[in-house]
This record gives sequence, C-alpha cells and structure tokens, in this order.
Amino acid sequence: LMHLTKKLIGIRSMLLSIDQSDTLKLPSIVVIGSQSSGKSSVLEAIVGHEFLPKGTNMVTRRPIELTLVHTPASGSNDPQEYGEFPALGLGKISNFEQIQRTLTDLNLAVPASDAVSNDPIDLRIYSPNVPDLTLIDLPGYIQIASMDQPETLKDKIAALCEKYIREPNIILAVCAADVDLANSPALRASRRVDPLGMRTIGVVTKMDLVPPEQGATILTGNRYPLHLGYVGVVCKPSGKKSRTESKAIIAQRGEDDYFGSHKDYFGASSSLMVGTRTLRHRLMEVLESSMASSLHGITNAVQLELEEATYQFKVQYNDRRITAESYVAETVDALKARFRDFTTRFTRPQLRTKLKGMLDERVLDVLEQLYWADKRAPELTALAADSRVQPETVEPYWRYKLEAASSLLTKSGVGRDSTLLVADGLRTLIESIASGEPFNYHPRAAERLVEFSHAILRDRVGVTSDQVENCIKPYKYEIEVDEREWEVGRKKSVELFEKELTMCEGKLKDLRQKVGGSWRLNTLVQYVRGLEEKEKERTARRLTKAHEETDVAEVEEGEVYKYSPAQLLDARHAMLYADRLNILKMRLATLKSKRCRGGPSNDVLCPEAFLDVVAEKLAYTSAMFISIELLDQFFYQFPREIDSRLIYDLDREEIAQFARENPAIRRHLDLQERKDKLEEVMKQLNSIAHLRKDTQPTPRRG
Ligand code: GDP
Repeated sequence: LMHLTKKLIGIRSMLLSIDQSDTLKLPSIVVIGSQSSGKSSVLEAIVGHEFLPKGTNMVTRRPIELTLVHTPASGSNDPQEYGEFPALGLGKISNFEQIQRTLTDLNLAVPASDAVSNDPIDLRIYSPNVPDLTLIDLPGYIQIASMDQPETLKDKIAALCEKYIREPNIILAVCAADVDLANSPALRASRRVDPLGMRTIGVVTKMDLVPPEQGATILTGNRYPLHLGYVGVVCKPSGKKSRTESKAIIAQRGEDDYFGSHKDYFGASSSLMVGTRTLRHRLMEVLESSMASSLHGITNAVQLELEEATYQFKVQYNDRRITAESYVAETVDALKARFRDFTTRFTRPQLRTKLKGMLDERVLDVLEQLYWADKRAPELTALAADSRVQPETVEPYWRYKLEAASSLLTKSGVGRDSTLLVADGLRTLIESIASGEPFNYHPRAAERLVEFSHAILRDRVGVTSDQVENCIKPYKYEIEVDEREWEVGRKKSVELFEKELTMCEGKLKDLRQKVGGSWRLNTLVQYVRGLEEKEKERTARRLTKAHEETDVAEVEEGEVYKYSPAQLLDARHAMLYADRLNILKMRLATLKSKRCRGGPSNDVLCPEAFLDVVAEKLAYTSAMFISIELLDQFFYQFPREIDSRLIYDLDREEIAQFARENPAIRRHLDLQERKDKLEEVMKQLNSIAHLRKDTQPTPRRG
C-alpha cells in the first residue's frame, strides 16, 4: 500500500495549489517543538542530510512545507538525491548545502520587524533514502523573546502553529528528554487541539542526556498518554568530519550505539519505540492510515467542489474553454480589426475636408490681417459695388494686397502643418485604442503600442512634410483659376463667411446674456468707448505737453471702478465681435453680388473667393501626398508592428501573465483551471478507490 501515500501526497500538493481552504485538505505531519528541543536534528535525521538553516538567531521564520519523495535507486548518472523549490524555478539542487543556504536566504528575507511569516516555503526532496512523507516545519516555540525580537513574536509563532496543528494534520510534538514534559510547549499546544492525543506523536530527543531508566519511563507515556505513542531518538551531531562517511551515517551509528548499549531498557522485548529508523517507519504508518481515513471525506469534498466548479463553468462561460494564447490571438485580431475600422476615417476626401478646414481658418486670419485691419477696407467694398469699375484699372495697391495674401497662405508652412495635423489624428486614434478595452488592463502592452506607432510617425512625418511642401511650391509663384474653380471658391467662401457670421452672432448673444441684457451691454460698450476716447485725448495731450504733469488722469481713474474688470473685458469682446459682424456682412454682400459672380477676373475685388481657391488647391495637393507618404505607409506598417513587437516576442509565461492582467480573463482561466485540477484529482482519487477495493481483504495497519 506504499503507493497510496505517494499518490495521496501528490493529490495533496495538487489540492494545495487549488486552494488553501480547510475543506480540501489531506493530512500532513506538522512538526512543533520549542527552540533547541532538537527539532531540526530530528528532521535532518529523517531526511539523512543537513539542510535546515542554523544560527543562534531564530532562523525558521516561515513554515517549510517539506515533501519527501521516495525515488527508486537507479544506476544512472543522474543525481539520486536532490531538492527542488517549485516556486523558485531553480531546478534540481543536489547540493544540500545550497538548499540550506536558499532556505536561510528565504527566511532572512522576512523583515526582522515581522519576524515570522505565514507564507510557506515549498521544498521537495527526492531520494531513494527517504520515505514518502509530507512534513511541515514551523518556527520553534520561544519561551522568552530576546531583546531584538518584537514583543508579540511569541504570540505570532503560537498563532502560526495553531493554524497548522488543526485537523486533519498529524502533530509531531518534539520534546527534549532532559526537560520536564510538563514544560513542553509542543505537548501543551497539541493538547489544546487534540485533547485525547489521537493524532499526536511524541518525539523525545536527547535520550542520551538522561539516564536510560528515566528515558524509558518517558517513552511509556504514562504521564501524558498519546494514542500514537512516543518515539525516543538520539540525534547528536557527530562533530568529527569524515571523508568516507556522511554525517548522517555517523549520527545514525551514534544512535544505534546508544540504544544498543542499553538493550535492557530499549531492546525488542521492551516494546518501546526508539531510533530514527523506527520514527520514520512510524510516521509513514501514521500518515498513511490518516490519509486513508481521510480518503472518503476528501473524495466527497472534491466531488462537491468539482460539481460546483462544473456548474459555474457552464453557467458563467457556457463551457467555453480559453487559453492565454487564444486570448492573446483574439486581442490582436480585435486590435487589427479596430485599426482597419479607423483607417476608413482617413480616406482621401475626408482628409481633404479636414485639411481644408485648417486652411479656412488660415484664410480668415490672412483676411483679418491684410484686409479687415486695413482702414481702406470699405473702399474695396465700394469699388466692388460700382459696376463701372474695371478690375484691371483698380489701383495697384489692391493687386499687391492680393498677392501678399496669397503668398501668406502658400508660405505658411502648409506642408508641415497639414502633415502634423494628420499625424496628430493618427496619434489620437492610437491613444484611444491604447486606453480603451482591453488595453486598459495591459498597461505595458498599451505603452508599447503607443511607442511603436509614434516611432512610425516620427519616421514618416519629416519625409511627408518635405514632399508636400515641394509639391505646393508652384502655387507660391502662380495660381491659375478657371471659371468653375472660381465659382466653387466663391460659394465656399460664402459658406465660410455665413458660418463665421453665425459664430459671431452667437458670441454676441452669449455676452448679452452674461452681462444681463442688450441694454446693459450697450451701456457698457458706451462706457468703454468713452474711456477709449478719453485715453486717446490724454495720449494726445501728453504728446503735446510732454513735460507737464497730468493731474486729470488721476482724478478720473476712479471712474474705472464703476464696472468690474471682467465686465469691461466683456464689453471690449462685444465690440470686437460687432466690428467683425459689420465687415462680414459687407463682404458677404460683395461675395454674393454680380461683381463676384463675374468670374476669376474679379479676383482683386473678391479676394475671399480667390483665397478659397488657393486653399482648395493646397488641400488637394497636401491630401494626395500625405495619403501616399504617411497614411499608406502607416496603415501598412502598423499591423506588422503589432505582430512583431506587441505579442510575438513574448514567451509562454509572459503570455500567461498578459492574459491574466485582464480580470475577466483571469477569472475565466482560474475557474477553468480549478475545474481541470479538480477533475484530475477526482480521477486519481477514483483510481485509488479502485486499488483499495482490490486489496480490501488485507487488514489495514496503524
Ligand atoms: P531546534 O532548535 O529545536 O531545531 O534544535 P536543534 O536540532 O538545533 O538542536 C539544539 C541543540 O541540541 C543542538 O546543539 C543539537 O546538537 C543538540 N541536540 C539535538 N539532538 C540531540 C541529541 O539527541 N542528543 C544531544 N546530546 N544533543 C542533541
């Protein structure tokens, strides 16, 4: 039946990985004892190697889940005895000193202020010389906390031990023979949770330190009876180093010698249990029988958990299985699909409209700068209205103006600005992808996404803007406009002006509302006009009598405070909008007049229509080259970068990590994994039940 324990130990660690709840627990042996009771020596004697942390300071700060796996002796060259820390991924460690160092490091990593941690260290030891056993080594009980240990340490250790010595675990209570059992914290703790001593084994260490008759009396267990009995051991370190024999062998001989030389007390006829070998055997028996009796209960518990998990998996996910890889693949597909969707927003006509919008703004700026701010602007309107005026005979002043306006537009860095505008649009789109589902769960992937799209843009922006600038160069010298273009331009600028007009009216309305009605706004405007007048006078006066002090100003300054600065600012804004409205109305009339409808020969008199044609030409050319040099390149490269930079350089573990960043996926994977593991455990439990049915007639030991 040796296989049973081995299998159940396997099942036990699987259950531990499923969850830490108490319902799904197979028993383990928990080793408790006070400091210096010889706990480490006993464990090392069982394993046959020195591997536990040593030191005067308390060195066991975390529970060690020690799983011993008996491996059949083989003739191959592979190391026959080795340890593994599954959580650390260090591989097989056949040097036990290294195991000891690792354990020491892991323990010392617990901050001294915490002193102990509940987080167990998982250590597995494989050897032909160990039995199949699971043992949990806990920090030793301390009597008095030393100066540098926290006050609460004693309680902390007690609480930690308390947690582990609960059912169904078996308690290995280590007591030293030379200390009165009544004072043993291990026995006292065991008694609290196991008053009848049904699942406690006593281990009496340092038997060599008391007279044999006294030792024998302790082992009879009459004083503190334990159902599983006491085992006496001697685990004295040999001290001498030998090249041919391991310390374990020397120590074993020491023990054999001791009990051998006191056969009267400990011989076969005494029916007392002594020696490390007996202890090992006893532990195997006890663990096996304890596991066997847990079998039924654990099978039921696992069955229930499995049913629940299966049900949940059906209800929540309709039995849909996923893998981290499939999630990653779906994410990439969705990303590419979303990106394709976006590319439809960047067709050439859409691009043209966008760029034209930018240039319209610029046209308005140029008009404002060159025409509206010009005191002679009304003259132009008057000229346009006069049907007798021939465009060719108009003063050269207006011709120069038109040329200046056109070149302001063509030389305003259209190449750079239009390219940047489109690049910015792309950047915003990528950023919206990166900050939306599911990339909000994957900050590192999102960062990479943004990074490589920026890299592509950086790469293309310079080339593209140069290219665009080159292609609009001819417009800097001459612009030919045909009838059709003219008419389109005229209509477009009517639209533009009407839009601007509506905007100004809206702003004025807002201002009226803000200051409390049109009457109030008018009063404010009047007031500001008055102030401006006075200011003008004052400046004039200051200019004429530069050296005289003007006391008038000081007197009048107080008047400014009649209204708040904010109100005065509103009035000034209202004045600006009103002026703008006047000009817009005037110019709109011109644009709609017969004069402007008369065709491109009237360009001097209708600069707005002409500039619109220029803007249209610039937008057309820019859109074409941006589309070829920037968009096509970007749309081609981006999906390829997703493949090469976002996902495909991830290894399995990183893929799993990536998938788990998404909480919904993590829950799905967790439940699926739990269900799978429970199924596997159930399968193994069933096969054990089979095995046991076959061997049922054999009476169970223990
Ligand atoms: P722990 O603190 O409970 O782990 O105790 P250790 O295993 O470190 O042992 C404490 C001290 O007792 C060490 O100096 C051991 O050498 C010594 N010791 C352990 N077992 C025996 C034994 O059976 N006989 C004798 N004489 N000394 C022992």
